[in-house]
Amino acid sequence: MMGRLRAMRAPLKYVQGRDALLKFYEEMRYMGKRWLFVCSKSGYKACYEKLEKSFEGMDDYRRYEVFGGISSNGEINKMREIVREDNIDTVVAVGGGSAIDTAKATAYYEGKHICIIPTVVATDAPCTGLSVIYNDDHSFDKYLFYPTNPDAVICDTTIIANAPVKFLIAGMGDALGTYFEGRASIRTESASLEGTGITRAGQVLSELCYETLRDYGKQAVEACKAHVVTPALENVVEANVYLSGVGADNVNCAAAHSFYNGVTAACAKHADHGCCVAFGTLVQLVLEGVSKEEFDDVQDFCLEVGLPVTLEECGVTTEEEMRKIAETACAPGETIHNLAGDVQPIELYDAMKQADAMGRIVLGK
Ligand SMILES: [Zn+2]
Repeated sequence: MMGRLRAMRAPLKYVQGRDALLKFYEEMRYMGKRWLFVCSKSGYKACYEKLEKSFEGMDDYRRYEVFGGISSNGEINKMREIVREDNIDTVVAVGGGSAIDTAKATAYYEGKHICIIPTVVATDAPCTGLSVIYNDDHSFDKYLFYPTNPDAVICDTTIIANAPVKFLIAGMGDALGTYFEGRASIRTESASLEGTGITRAGQVLSELCYETLRDYGKQAVEACKAHVVTPALENVVEANVYLSGVGADNVNCAAAHSFYNGVTAACAKHADHGCCVAFGTLVQLVLEGVSKEEFDDVQDFCLEVGLPVTLEECGVTTEEEMRKIAETACAPGETIHNLAGDVQPIELYDAMKQADAMGRIVLGK
């Protein structure tokens, strides 16, 4: 497309490693003296002591807010008030997607620094420059796009190794989509997720993301089950958090994420975001008519690490649900339209059935 500017966006600072939070103060002190930590319950439990230890001997103001909610307008307004009342310099997210999206929005509206501490690595939320915002009744409100990505992300891999392995696996599913969805978007010269031209830097990150998952995924799963930090776990955490998040932001999504959106609309009970994106990637490969070799490669990976290869594993069980997914996923504005051709619900439906059939063969069902 002529005239579209290429752009590249990423967090200004990324820190990761064993007991990284013990260095929180040392790494982030340049952002101010007054801190608000927006924590999920489990995030607070996992991080509080390490964070306090990192501040040892310092008189910085620290306020911890534990919330059990979602990234709703009500929660964001509550946090904004605290920022103003306590004269906060930096908002820090401690937790998963909800805490991260709430903290990002709070910092953005109040014009403060934002630092992200992911305590699970299940989605692309930490490094991206957008949030999913909900209404107070938990219905979807909007995607909130920010002019930049977070100031800093710090990921403590000891905490990740001690979180349930299902989060790491789901994050690998979300990361699996990044390369294939990006590749599809580049083929059609679509804009990036942030609406700019796609850089070669974005492409190379998304390629490295898939390579890293293939090379280290299985080992990382075993490390996490044993609650140990190894180079393989470090590599996959980096793939889930940085390569996938920055990759996706700078390329774009395609059919795999539209499949997920369809599932959320059709099935009250369904698998996690990343698990649906993984199967959605297999569906996309069928739609694209890739070779058996490439399909098998991705399917083997899913089997190896415990990601879904059938519709049933995503929580999709009825004909009616399948029809509804196909319809919803092809709605105008869905990222499936970054794929070549104007994908129709019947084509998506057929691709879902084939991907599922191929999954049932390997599972012996
Ligand atoms: Zn995703």
